[in-house]
Amino acid sequence: MNAAKRLEIFRRFHEDNPEPKTELAYSSPFELLIAVILSAQSTDVGVNKATAKLFPVANTPEAIHALGVEGLSEYIKTIGLFNSKAKNVIETCRLLIERHGSVVPQTREALEALPGVGRKTANVVLNTAFRQLTMAVDTHIFRVSNRTGLAPGKNVVEVEKKLMKFVPKEYLLDSHHWLILHGRYVCLARKPRCGSCRIEDLCEYKDKTSDD
Ligand code: SF4
Repeated sequence: MNAAKRLEIFRRFHEDNPEPKTELAYSSPFELLIAVILSAQSTDVGVNKATAKLFPVANTPEAIHALGVEGLSEYIKTIGLFNSKAKNVIETCRLLIERHGSVVPQTREALEALPGVGRKTANVVLNTAFRQLTMAVDTHIFRVSNRTGLAPGKNVVEVEKKLMKFVPKEYLLDSHHWLILHGRYVCLARKPRCGSCRIEDLCEYKDKTSDD
């Protein structure tokens, strides 16, 4: 895909949605970190339902740590893999208290050292909470990048590197949200809705559908 097409794709995403946001509910970097850990292989809607009850009761490392694994599990048991997520969150809270003064660190290395925090979670937190130029490639972004020809790659790290290189600089900070939303609501995994896709004329996917 050439640079002019890439620029036009993001110009349209920006025109349609000038201030894209994550669909996870949060009101601090710490809440976002916990919500992203909980969201692995789960929907944002499901995570928001659980955190809507959890965060009013506990939204600091100390308060969540005080709940313990069992106490926290009561709030998040509707989320997939809640057992291991509860353990990771409690351990993450402990490390935040002991090593970081109960503040979410702003570097990839420190974030990835926390249990339950991989490269993607670190990228989401750095980008969304701290507005750093990072690219979190999830299943939606991986699919959209490959189908459209925007940043084809065999694995998420390859796609991440290409997006960092190819997305026009003025759109890089918000591109993560636009690509996720596009994959979640338009360029669906099983049947992309090419018939109502805003970038259909720019996309280089060979098996486009006529679905709306
Ligand atoms: S045209 Fe189809 S395949 Fe291409 S981005 Fe749009 S929905 Fe996805």
